Amino acid sequence: MTAANPDSKAPKVLRGVGASPGIVAGKAFTLSRERIVVPRRQILPEQVPRELHRFQEAVAEAQRELQKAKEQVALSLPREALLIMDAHLMLLADEMLVGHAAQLIEEEQINAEWALRKVLDELAALFRKMKDSYLRERGLDIEVVGELLLRWLMGSQETRLSQIEDPVIIVAHDLSPAETAQLAGKKVLGFATDVGSRTSHTAIVASSLQIPAVVGLERITREVNPGDLLILDGSSGTVVVNPTETICREYQERKQRLLVMTRELRKYVDLPSTTLDGHRVRLAANLEILEEIQYLKDSGAEGVGLFRTEYLFLGRSDLPSEDEHYQHYRRLIEAVAPHGATLRTLDLGGDKFASQLLMPDEMNPAMGLRAIRFCLASPEIFKTQLRGILRASAHGKIRVMFPMVSGFHEIREAKRLLREAADELDRSGVAFDHQIQVGMMVEVPSASLMADRLAKEVDFFSIGTNDLIQYVLAIDRINEHVSYLYEPLHPAMLQIIRQVVDAGHAAGIEVHICGEMASDPLHLPVLVGLGLDELSMPATSIPRIKKILRGIKKSDAEAFVQELFRFDTAREVLEFVLEEIKSRWADAYALEGVGGVEAGDFQCAVNPFPSPEAGS
Ligand code: PEP
Ligand code: MG
Repeated sequence: MTAANPDSKAPKVLRGVGASPGIVAGKAFTLSRERIVVPRRQILPEQVPRELHRFQEAVAEAQRELQKAKEQVALSLPREALLIMDAHLMLLADEMLVGHAAQLIEEEQINAEWALRKVLDELAALFRKMKDSYLRERGLDIEVVGELLLRWLMGSQETRLSQIEDPVIIVAHDLSPAETAQLAGKKVLGFATDVGSRTSHTAIVASSLQIPAVVGLERITREVNPGDLLILDGSSGTVVVNPTETICREYQERKQRLLVMTRELRKYVDLPSTTLDGHRVRLAANLEILEEIQYLKDSGAEGVGLFRTEYLFLGRSDLPSEDEHYQHYRRLIEAVAPHGATLRTLDLGGDKFASQLLMPDEMNPAMGLRAIRFCLASPEIFKTQLRGILRASAHGKIRVMFPMVSGFHEIREAKRLLREAADELDRSGVAFDHQIQVGMMVEVPSASLMADRLAKEVDFFSIGTNDLIQYVLAIDRINEHVSYLYEPLHPAMLQIIRQVVDAGHAAGIEVHICGEMASDPLHLPVLVGLGLDELSMPATSIPRIKKILRGIKKSDAEAFVQELFRFDTAREVLEFVLEEIKSRWADAYALEGVGGVEAGDFQCAVNPFPSPEAGS
């Protein structure tokens, strides 16, 4: 690892989202992305055709640039990265962007740059309002493509990465796909960006290229100067600017431990997911797009516990046909065989927006016309998907699951439409699994309160803690100002999960969990003790969770969980959990050759590893 900066600059620790794991140290290469200042000109009516021609030329040049970048890296880049480049190429032909700008040139008689800037500002405002992080990221795609076009219009096309020669850590507001494509051939140690989340393109490309990355740092471009020494930890989402010698040594040791840990965890991929006293807990994967299937094999996932089907509706202007649904789910189920997959029906609306669905603009979208409510209000869209799911069920073990169910009316209506879809297929002689299991997500408080009765309506429950925490604790799950209150170990959450598990088991059905809570090692003994039958999480988390699961006894976890109910606050619960892990399960949490449990071994947001010297 590079030696620490000898001068007296104070070290700074910046925290963001770990997008791609790994620890690296190196000099910062900063890319500025100042907003391009565009000239504003009113043009004469007779100048309109020329201006339109200039605009179309710029579009064609931008298309050529992207196409060329794509061809250059077609063999070396993973499919996800190429898909991103395709999406950007599609945007260059999009009516909403290119078509609308051309219309403004004509109607308002303004120059092409000004017209494009107006459209970009309008679209940016629209996407910024979206609560769903995935969709907000798609707004960034438009920005990136817009800037590419503006550069061509204004004649400044040099690429920002062409100056990189030595291995560096890139610090940028964001990276465009053409730029990320260039990273494949460069000695880029890692990158850190102001914007982005785990679903951002930067994150997707970083992890598929296996380049350590931290995104969503908000201000890193303002905090770092070119040439500053950085340590970037893509596992914990931390960047240390100008570290001291001692901090460098600490990270060097941490890096060594991470390597040992990764090697150690590989051994668990093919082992059964059972506790020390022989209790099985299924570990499944959460999936959004089919391209992620490749990671399932290396994770040891026993199938898919949550397939977020709404991603099939995003980034397009038409609705998926029944056949497209069928083909999509069939590819999934054949790829995960012999395991099964739980397909959650469309969970869009309010905070997740698909342009082709004309959804209402709501004051309080998290509680608006979303998920099952939207589907019941649009039965044809819903039944098209249900027929696609049913047809795919002829090819493997598919379960269907309804999101955001708040009570009997919704689950009964959803099942009625499923029956109608099944009857239609029967009448046409189309094969499907007549015994297909039907489940519901428990993510609305009313559903958890009525779990004992709702359990008689379905074959399984899956607790969606991401939303359930939001509704039980009244914490907007995406609002950073109240994120400190977003506490999975809140006593109210423990009580509610226990109630749902007990209700499900009393009715003889399985209870799963598919919210992010399932992937945090700290929560594992809690969830095992509460009796969950399946934990579904991002595939990469599975080996770690399996290792811990195999080192604890269900009976111990049950006794431990009983103790949790005497605490009044989430902090007390958390402190107790940490103490118990150290005293009761140190072996399960320790990694061979790595030592005992340390705060830094957890990914839990409340438990980062601040360095006393680094300040914060
Ligand atoms: C949840 O709410 O916990 C969940 C898994 O669904 P989503 O995150 O897609 O809302
Ligand atoms: Mg949810």
